[in-house]
Amino acid sequence: MEKEYFDTPIEFLKGVGPQRAELLRKELGIFNFGDLLTYYPFRYVDRTRYYKCSEAHADLPYVQIRGQIKSLAVQGAGRKKILKAVFADETGSVELKWFQGLKWISSSLKLNRDYVLFGKPNEYQGQINVIHPELEDPEDPTRVKESSLQPVYNSTEKLKSKGLDSKGFLRLQRTLIAALPVNLTESLPESFLSEFKVPSRRNALISIHFPENQEELSKAEFRIKFEELFYIQLKLLFLKLIRSEKIKGVDFPKVGDHFNTFYKDHLPFELTEAQKRVIREIRSDFASGKQMNRLLQGDVGSGKTLVALMCMLLAVDNGYQCCLMAPTEILAVQHAETIAGFMKNQEINVALLTGSVKGKARQELLSSLAEGKINILIGTHALIEDDVKFQSLGFIVIDEQHRFGVEQRARLWKKNNIYPHVLVMTATPIPRTLAMTLYGDLDYSVIDELPPGRMPVKTVHRLDSNRLQVWGFVKDEIKKGRQIYIVYPLIDESEKVDLNNLQEGYESICRDFPSPEYRVSIVHGRMKAADKDAEMQRFIQKKTQIMVATSVIEVGVNVPNATVMIVENAERFGLSQLHQLRGRVGRGSDQSYCILMTGNKLGNDARIRIRTLCETNDGFKISEADLELRGPGDTEGTRQSGMLDLKLANISKDQKIVGLAREAAIRILGDDPSLEKSSNRTLRAGLEKILKKSGDWSRIS
Ligand code: ADP
Ligand code: MG
Repeated sequence: MEKEYFDTPIEFLKGVGPQRAELLRKELGIFNFGDLLTYYPFRYVDRTRYYKCSEAHADLPYVQIRGQIKSLAVQGAGRKKILKAVFADETGSVELKWFQGLKWISSSLKLNRDYVLFGKPNEYQGQINVIHPELEDPEDPTRVKESSLQPVYNSTEKLKSKGLDSKGFLRLQRTLIAALPVNLTESLPESFLSEFKVPSRRNALISIHFPENQEELSKAEFRIKFEELFYIQLKLLFLKLIRSEKIKGVDFPKVGDHFNTFYKDHLPFELTEAQKRVIREIRSDFASGKQMNRLLQGDVGSGKTLVALMCMLLAVDNGYQCCLMAPTEILAVQHAETIAGFMKNQEINVALLTGSVKGKARQELLSSLAEGKINILIGTHALIEDDVKFQSLGFIVIDEQHRFGVEQRARLWKKNNIYPHVLVMTATPIPRTLAMTLYGDLDYSVIDELPPGRMPVKTVHRLDSNRLQVWGFVKDEIKKGRQIYIVYPLIDESEKVDLNNLQEGYESICRDFPSPEYRVSIVHGRMKAADKDAEMQRFIQKKTQIMVATSVIEVGVNVPNATVMIVENAERFGLSQLHQLRGRVGRGSDQSYCILMTGNKLGNDARIRIRTLCETNDGFKISEADLELRGPGDTEGTRQSGMLDLKLANISKDQKIVGLAREAAIRILGDDPSLEKSSNRTLRAGLEKILKKSGDWSRIS
């Protein structure tokens, strides 16, 4: 009965029919009653409140006025035609404007009779106007009842043209709610209802669409958000439990010669306390008999790679192979060189596998890998190809994880009959609540300390018109023997334009920094790998002082002598991208600088991004700001994850509820790990439904 209601195809709802159903499916993914019921209002307006024309001003989100249309005329010609009307009451008038559907609108409106106007007031040349207002006949019997919290639904142009504007949705929701089964099954345990003082599922659904008052609405919102977030946590924590119980891990009981020799004889510096702590955490996982799945966060330059290397040595000491997967070829090459450098006095065989390793070289590499002769394999996603076979893969490190999908990670896992341990490293810090939601099934380590002697990078904002000054500064730094990055944006859709900008920028830089006094390198994504590599090498070997690049250098490259990072068109980069770029300097002991170049005009968000960067070097603060500006849907790494199927909750705005939901899930599973108690029957059923949908079901049974 209940299931039937939720699964009923949407065309069977009174007022929908085949045509609208098709559009609802296509435009909004609404297939059945259940989908429409969870198509929640995005805000509520007070339709009991009436304004006068004289009270309308542009700061109001909307106005509702009773009045009459006094004149109606089409102005302009061709595609620029506008329909304008004067709408007046006894206190004055506002102008109404339409840009579309002029014919139909002008023929259906009548002069000098009463209308109720509803819309957003704007101001233009001192005159208040409303664009595409809603106009209703107050005597219309189908008019929706006025209430102080009338729901407003998002719609699309196509749906609106078929009568499904916000009002249209409101009518459908009315019909739908009227048919809502009386004994709707509860989806949260009874105990939660009293503990969190939330309404029943049925009442919450009714109130979210048609609240009687603000208090009722708030309770319904809380309940629905809590439920969404709670089930995410329940799923993550449940899977984590299953994994730790059912999936055996490779055992690395000993700390052997490779680790000890490196630590005692070859480590060129003292580890930071944070690095030591993380190594201890990983070591204890290695010896636990369970498979490790750990997320390692640490700001750029905090020394994650070294931690990963030392843990790889532990694996090698126990007779296993390791791999390190990097998101780009440049980065893989650099990791391979760094690690080979650290290992040069030790009997560890380090190899590099990328897309450019081909033919015979590749065959040879693959066979020594299969024979177990290679201890550490470093590479790009070329590592996940099926013909890459290890003799005994025990430990996988994934650097800069957000570029790898969950799928790709899983393919690596399967390269051993016992799942290898996995360490995911990310330099794009994620706010705690987001990490809890996205990686809630991973254990978590953080390096919250930079190696000693690092000076924070000084960040400033400069306008294009100050360029001469900036160039003067660059010349001073070069005189001191330092190197400079100048980065141009490269955004897919406008790649051609961007490449032209880069090329022009490069040419003008070459004019301003003439050879032989200055040498300039250029690297961008369209160059052949070998050429790119040669240019990078010239810069790394200090043969050139300036590196002009697109954001290909964003991740990872390590040139401690580079002290200035100039970002051109900085307004076009995202916050975390800018933070990553800035992390390319400040790697040595000299004071480093990041200069964000923009034109005079800046949008509001861009202004906030640039101000944030200038004010703080703290990656976590930056990621919080990023989350607030863009919402979780856009935060790097969340898009591919496909995990955040949230309809009402917002990870950024509802952080408190995220915390409550996680606590509640921990409490429930702590008391009843397999959800067998009868009081948890509801939760078990809810969880089974989710796991079936996401294909994780097999991992339970
Ligand atoms: P991340 O990968 O976290 O951005 P890296 O591992 O690339 O950082 O380290 C940045 C630089 O700091 C490297 O040159 C590395 O050798 C150096 N480094 C790492 N740990 C320490 C330490 N404890 N003391 C001094 N330098 C360190
Ligand atoms: Mg790194």
